[in-house]
Amino acid sequence: MSSSYIHDTISYLKQTSPAQDEFYQAAEEVLSSLKPLLDRNPKYQKHNIIQRVVEPERQVMFRVAWIDDRGNVQVNKGYRIQFNSALGPYKGGLRFHPNVTAGTIKFLGFEQIFKNSLTGLAIGGAKGGANFDPKGKSDNEIMRFCQSFMTELFRHVGDTIDVPAGDIGVGGREIGYLYGQYKRLTGKYEGVLTGKGLNWGGSLARTEATGYGAVYFAQNMLAERGDSMEGKICTVSGSGNVSIYTVEKLYQVGAKPVTVSDSNGMIYDKDGIDLNLLKQVKEVERARLTRYAEQRPSAVYTPVENYPTGRNSVWSVPCQAAFPSATQNEVSEEDARELLKNGCVCISEGANMPSTQAAIDTFLASGIAYGPAKAANAGGVATSQLEMSQNASMSQWTFEEVDAKLKRIMENIYRTASATAREFGAPGNLVLGANIAGFRKVADAMIDQGVV
Ligand code: NAP
Repeated sequence: MSSSYIHDTISYLKQTSPAQDEFYQAAEEVLSSLKPLLDRNPKYQKHNIIQRVVEPERQVMFRVAWIDDRGNVQVNKGYRIQFNSALGPYKGGLRFHPNVTAGTIKFLGFEQIFKNSLTGLAIGGAKGGANFDPKGKSDNEIMRFCQSFMTELFRHVGDTIDVPAGDIGVGGREIGYLYGQYKRLTGKYEGVLTGKGLNWGGSLARTEATGYGAVYFAQNMLAERGDSMEGKICTVSGSGNVSIYTVEKLYQVGAKPVTVSDSNGMIYDKDGIDLNLLKQVKEVERARLTRYAEQRPSAVYTPVENYPTGRNSVWSVPCQAAFPSATQNEVSEEDARELLKNGCVCISEGANMPSTQAAIDTFLASGIAYGPAKAANAGGVATSQLEMSQNASMSQWTFEEVDAKLKRIMENIYRTASATAREFGAPGNLVLGANIAGFRKVADAMIDQGVV
């Protein structure tokens, strides 16, 4: 098969879904990995799988009107994109961030299809959210927003239909308010959301899962190279859910995380990030990282205004392993070069699509251990599915049970991506391996289920 299918598909997307650059980027990254599979298997072309898989099964966009603390009426845009249900009920997080557009949600939903497939669990792909900024809002404003959001969303979700979870700007507090409103509207106490509170249906280890999983993934990559995480200096970006539990697990495996960041700046702490202080600042006070710097003499704070143009200063700190855990396109080609120059041998992506295509190409060309997002951060959604299992069987597993399952899932994802890369003549290329393995399972299920 010639590579024209990539160009033709991206042109079609640009024409039919204008102004969705992040989605085109995600689609191109997946499509360009698939050529060896499509060459060997004409059935995917015969069933027109590419054109079908880039088109969401359903997209819901809705008005979210709510009243702020001053009595003013505010309006935001809400989204739920149910991308693919070939493997199970739709599953994927909700993002509340002012930059959210349909294109953002679509790129995240597209990635989610293949990530969920890679976990080996029965879950389809979806994503949702709103261009709502939770920063600076009172608890009551957050509650009113979440209630209004769910007042539309409830008719599209359900425990065997579509099960949303958290993402940027959506944590335990927001999931609680969303769940309360779902229950009020439907009268049903069911596992319609994951990331729930521990005393009302949540799973132990769900909060920790994405960060822990990204470190487990790095351990698997390094073990195959006869290396380990022990003693490694690590850089981490972000300071939210994924970053905090990446930092926690790094300490547990004997590594030393020295950076965290938020959208205002970054911390370099040569003595290692103080995990308790970080949790206090971010999880309890919901404050900025300047607060961390004020209380920690060894911390150096750099505001984003002082980052070199086109660069993220987190990636200038010398490290042996890096964990991008904030947001998309936070690692540029120049950042990638700097990381390699400073001796970095391992990248494990906690965030979704944190590296630009040029950065990915730089990592792959260098031959270092590069764990792409849809494999390395799949521990979060996998543990969400474990939460769904516990809800369905009305049981509650211990932290150790869930963590052991998470560890096994991350190892299986690594083995699947690595074996698939070898099968298609690109050993070590986990981008190709993860994309082909994730796609193949979905595509085969779509063929089995007919043209729907
Ligand atoms: P979170 O708790 O809301 O934390 C997000 C962190 O990233 C915050 O420190 C935030 O800083 C920073 N950030 C967000 N947008 C940024 C931007 N444009 N520039 C610089 N910094 C920015 O969210 P999270 O759940 O940790 O998610 C982080 C990443 O992991 C996202 O890419 C998400 O899709 C991915 N992910 C999350 C999960 C999960 O289970 N939560 C699972 C898989 C993948 P501010 O506070 O200043 O905004």
